[in-house]
Amino acid sequence: MAVALIALGSNLGDRLAHLNAAVAGMSGLPETRLVALSRLYETAPVGGPDRQGAFLNGAARLETELSAPELLLALQRIEAGQNRERKVRWGPRTLDLDILVYEAEISDDPELVLPHPRMHERRFVMVPVCDIAAGLAHPRLHDTMLTLLNRLPTEAGDLTLFDDKWTAGYDLPLSHEESGAA
Ligand code: ATP
Ligand code: CA
Ligand code: CA
Repeated sequence: MAVALIALGSNLGDRLAHLNAAVAGMSGLPETRLVALSRLYETAPVGGPDRQGAFLNGAARLETELSAPELLLALQRIEAGQNRERKVRWGPRTLDLDILVYEAEISDDPELVLPHPRMHERRFVMVPVCDIAAGLAHPRLHDTMLTLLNRLPTEAGDLTLFDDKWTAGYDLPLSHEESGAA
């Protein structure tokens, strides 16, 4: 049984519907359990083309018997189910699901870099991650997720709490209350 952290993002169309579909899709994966969901945050787009809409971002913790490549394939199918198109790098997307961490695996395969190479540079990733895995050590950097988050500069308004109750629709513990992260 492996623990994986997944980043969820959407900035096109009905963002909540895409994220709910992602949660449903992940819950329905074979030999996989969705064990925690972060709160949802709204974040200004970083990088990529100008004038795309704000993102909703969250994170999920899975326990799975799937290998990391099997999990990536499954996540890409869930993205495709929401009509995810790959046009512009970092452009607008209905659904983006990235594997942030898979156990303590380290991989430099460009198809699946583990841990996700940019996670620790992104507040829109690390804030939701700290809702569900603040004390987890980053497999390459060895610091905890909370330590890495606290190292990131904040820009006023770069990220706001969007919904702290969307997890209530799922039969999951309000995991961020355990983490003590803001
Ligand atoms: P970023 O990786 O900076 O968040 P992105 O999510 O917009 O960018 P995509 O266009 O969704 O990038 O994915 C490009 C490729 O990244 C995918 O084809 C996939 O094979 C590869 N990839 C490498 N490592 C990972 C990972 N840890 N999780 C998901 N995809 C990954
Ligand atoms: Ca991404
Ligand atoms: Ca991606």
